Amino acid sequence: MDTLIALQESIAGQVNNLNEIGFKNILLSTVENTYDWVMITDKNGIIEYVNDAVVTISGFSRKEIIGKTPRIFKSGLYDKSFYENLWKKITNGEIYKGAVTNKRKDGSYFQVDNTIVPVAQNGKIIKFVSIAKDITKEAYLEEEVFKFKYTDLLTGVLNREGFIENVNKQLEDFYKSKETAIVVVFDIYGFAMLNERYGFEKCNEILKKVSKELVGNFYRKDLVARVGSDSFGIFLRLDSDENLLKVIDKFLNFFKRPVFVDKDKLLIDINIGVSVWDGGIGATDLLARAEAALNLSKTEGANCVRVYNEKINKNVMEYFDKVGLIEESLEKEFFVFHLQPIVSSATLKIESFEALVRINHPERGLIYPDFFINIIEKTKLLEKFELLLFKKIVEYLQTVHLHLNKYLKISVNISANSVSSGKILECADIVPLNLRQFINLEITERVFLKDSGKVIDIIDRLKKLNFMVEIDDFGTGYSSLGMIEQVSFDILKIDISFVRKMLEDEKVMGIVKTIVSLGKNLGLQTIAEGVETKEQAEILKSIGCDFLQGYFFSKPIPLENAIDIFKNQPHFHLS
Ligand code: C2E
Ligand code: CA
Ligand code: CA
Repeated sequence: MDTLIALQESIAGQVNNLNEIGFKNILLSTVENTYDWVMITDKNGIIEYVNDAVVTISGFSRKEIIGKTPRIFKSGLYDKSFYENLWKKITNGEIYKGAVTNKRKDGSYFQVDNTIVPVAQNGKIIKFVSIAKDITKEAYLEEEVFKFKYTDLLTGVLNREGFIENVNKQLEDFYKSKETAIVVVFDIYGFAMLNERYGFEKCNEILKKVSKELVGNFYRKDLVARVGSDSFGIFLRLDSDENLLKVIDKFLNFFKRPVFVDKDKLLIDINIGVSVWDGGIGATDLLARAEAALNLSKTEGANCVRVYNEKINKNVMEYFDKVGLIEESLEKEFFVFHLQPIVSSATLKIESFEALVRINHPERGLIYPDFFINIIEKTKLLEKFELLLFKKIVEYLQTVHLHLNKYLKISVNISANSVSSGKILECADIVPLNLRQFINLEITERVFLKDSGKVIDIIDRLKKLNFMVEIDDFGTGYSSLGMIEQVSFDILKIDISFVRKMLEDEKVMGIVKTIVSLGKNLGLQTIAEGVETKEQAEILKSIGCDFLQGYFFSKPIPLENAIDIFKNQPHFHLS
């Protein structure tokens, strides 16, 4: 520190030649007239002396400062531990050195390079001397240089170097975090072509617009950068792997909307590459991996996604393959319902059907629900799907009527999510009033897992709309007896797992009997699903289960076959 050195030199070199008063005067006028900040506090930090520089730099008058503590200059930028550590050091007799940002009287910030020296007498600290240099201008310049170096001048977001620098900083303490760090890079598809078509200026506007919207759409702690001429990188922290799919989905949806430049509406396609940080590499490699994935995705055409990690890539690709399949099937109505006969145990005649969805794809053939139903139920696609489901079932009912001159009851599976959200009410609305009594809504017992009060209310309303309601997968343990009594429904379906085990396990047999008698007591009908053998059918009949369904009678079949099989009722024999 200049002042400190000056003082030391003056003491060492000249003290011998001066009398005591002369020395004190020189010292005092040096301290008074230096541009550096000199402040003396007592051992408790109460300010006893400040020089002119402190007044000039801080904007406070001497009167306002003397008697206070240095807290008067506090900027609020540091946490408590910063000041505690500083205080600990100097009360320990050590010299503190460091740059500190403080606040002026008018609220603006100033930065000083500060040295605090404890002064001791007889081994006890009696005062602290703070000598500091105003480095506000330097700090500002450094910040400007930093900005200039790390900012993309066109768009105002970080540039490639800035991205790498900042991501590296974030990765420093990432080992401790439970979150996942990912880098998503995307590239505007056919940007060269856009350039030719719209010209550079308009394309620059596109880049500006895209980066502005990106910044607006992601959280503040996510980093957005332009990492190439037409490519952007985003660093994100995710708290679960499932969020990766959501993030990618968000990007894809983001670019499904048109970008407006001046009055032109432009549709932009992108490619996406993703890398997931697994420790051990820095930002440069993490970005390079995302870019390698991006290049791979470009070979697949527009709006494709690739992930650097092979296993994750497989999951992501499968997921988006399924989403694509579902979207196509919704659009082109590839969804069909196969009907599985439900047989009365008293007459052994087919009385009704359960509709089970399949995708009938022209190239990929028949695809079963375990491949896609989870995704439908978890995404926004559900509403569209259930609208289609009701539309189709109404058509099926009418086709059946055309052939048999009467309506048959059809059971349809309803997603727990659309029951708990209440969306099911909107879908059900499209069914003509006179047909509702022929539609039995199968609602899985899992629906009671969340907010059962609301679910009970929605089931009530479905009943009032004239639908039949059945609790599917009954006995799997999500509902209590007390709750079941409150729900107004018509049928209980005994879960397949019980039917499967009941012949080998007496306890399971006991449960099945209990469910059947519970149904009787509550005035409900019971169905057993997954009946595969004659023995199972016989036992279920003998304990009073009303309806039987399963491969023993028939697999789910297309509508035409269902009409046929109903007309020519097969003869089932039970002893
Ligand atoms: P679920 O509602 O429990 O349907 C019964 C499943 O068991 C059907 O499988 C059916 O083909 C099968 N099954 C019937 N009898 C037997 C049998 O004797 N043995 C065996 N092992 N299986 C039998 P599927 O058609 O693959 O449907 C699977 C699940 O997909 C359904 O289970 C249901 O949860 C869901 N699902 C099917 N269609 C729809 C739908 O339209 N909407 C919704 N939300 N879910 C559906
Ligand atoms: Ca079912
Ligand atoms: Ca079931």
